[in-house]
Amino acid sequence: PVSVAAEARPAARHRTVAVDVGGIVVGGGAPIVVQSMTNTDTADVASTVKQVAALARTGSELVRITVDRDEAARAVPYIRDALMVKGIEVPLVGDFHYIGHKLLTDHPACAEALAKYRINPGNVGFKDKRDKQFSTIVEIAAKYGKPVRIGANWGSLDQELLTRLMDENSKSDAPLEARAVTREALVQSALISAARAEEIGLGRDRIILSAKVSAVQDLIAVYRDLARRSDYALHLGLTEAGMGSKGIVASSAALGILLQEGIGDTIRYSLTPEPGGDRSLEVRAAQELLQTMGFRTFVPLVAACPGCGRTTSTVFQELARDIQHWITSSMPEWKTRYPGVENLNVAVMGCIVNGPGESKHADIGISLPGTGETPSAPVFIDGEKAMTLKGAGIADEFKTLVNDYIER
Ligand code: SF4
Repeated sequence: PVSVAAEARPAARHRTVAVDVGGIVVGGGAPIVVQSMTNTDTADVASTVKQVAALARTGSELVRITVDRDEAARAVPYIRDALMVKGIEVPLVGDFHYIGHKLLTDHPACAEALAKYRINPGNVGFKDKRDKQFSTIVEIAAKYGKPVRIGANWGSLDQELLTRLMDENSKSDAPLEARAVTREALVQSALISAARAEEIGLGRDRIILSAKVSAVQDLIAVYRDLARRSDYALHLGLTEAGMGSKGIVASSAALGILLQEGIGDTIRYSLTPEPGGDRSLEVRAAQELLQTMGFRTFVPLVAACPGCGRTTSTVFQELARDIQHWITSSMPEWKTRYPGVENLNVAVMGCIVNGPGESKHADIGISLPGTGETPSAPVFIDGEKAMTLKGAGIADEFKTLVNDYIER
C-alpha cells in the first residue's frame, strides 16, 4: 500500500499578485527571490558599490541600501551608475524611515535610480500629519512607476495603532494575551497601510508586504495571518535574527515552515555579521534554504556524512571540504560554461555503512574506506558503481571524475 510518504513536497504556493522590482518578479508564482541588505554608509559610494557587488555576485537578486539623509540620497544614482559600469544590474531598494518623503522629494535622481522603496508604517504613518508623509512616498512611487514594500516591524510598531488595539482588547469579554494583540497590530499596520496606498493610487502589483518579528513562533503566526487576509506579495524575514548559527537556525526554522506552507515570495536572512565579517553569508544561507527545500537550485549540493568512529583518517573530511570549496569557487565560471550545473548532486561518504547507498542517490559519489575496510573507494556515477579508486591520489582522481561528469 502507498503511504502518506508518497507525498514529499511543499503546499501549493499562496496566490499573490506579481510585483516587478526592476526586472525581478516577486510573487504571482515566480521563483522565490533571494535578497539582502548592505551595512555600509550609503553616502560612502565606493564601499557601498563594493558590498552591493559582492552580494550580487554571491547571488542576491535584490539589494537594499539605507537612505537615511541627504548625502545618502545624493549617492544613490552614483552607486547605481558605478555598478552598471561593472556590469552589475542588481535592482537597488531604498530603505527609508522617518524622512523618506522628504528625501524622495528633494532627490528625484535617487527616486528614479531606486527600483523599490521600503516604507516603515511604524514611523511614516497613515493618520493626520503622518498621512501626508506616507502619501508623498506613495505618490512618488506611482509617478516613477516604482513598487513599495510596506515593511512593518515589531521593533518600530505604530504605537497609536497598538494602543488602540490594546484598549479595545482590555474592554473585550475574552481579552487576548498582549503578545497576540501585538501580532494583530503588526498585521493591521501592514494591511491598513497597503489599503491606503491603493486608495492613493498605487496598484496591488506595486505593493509588497512584510511584518517582521524576531521570535520564530510569532513570525509564523503573523505571516499565516497576512497570507490568509490578503494576496499582496510577501517578503519573509526573521528580523534581528542574531549572530552565527543562532541567526541561521532561527531564520531557517521560521522561513522553512512558512515556505513549506506555500507562504513567501522573497526572503532575507537578517544575520549579524562578525565585526568586519562576510555579509554574503546571508545570501548563501537563503540560497541553501531554498535549494535544500527543493524550491530552487543555485550551486551543486554536496551530501556528506558527519563521520564517526568508523572514520579513522582525516582524508574523508578533507575531501568533503575540498570538493565543497572547489565547487563554490568554480561556480562563477561553471555557470556560464555549463548551464544546469547547479542541479548536480555529489556525495562524499566516510564508510561502507551508508556510503554506497547515499552515493547511488547522487549523480556522482564516492564511499571512502572506514576503519578495517579494504583501502579502496568505490565511485558511483548515475546510480551505478563505475570504478574503484585506490592509493594516495583518491581526492584528486575523484575531482577529475566530477569535472569529467560536469563536462559531459
Ligand atoms: Fe560513520 Fe560510515 Fe555513517 Fe559516515 S557513513 S557516519 S563513517 S557509519
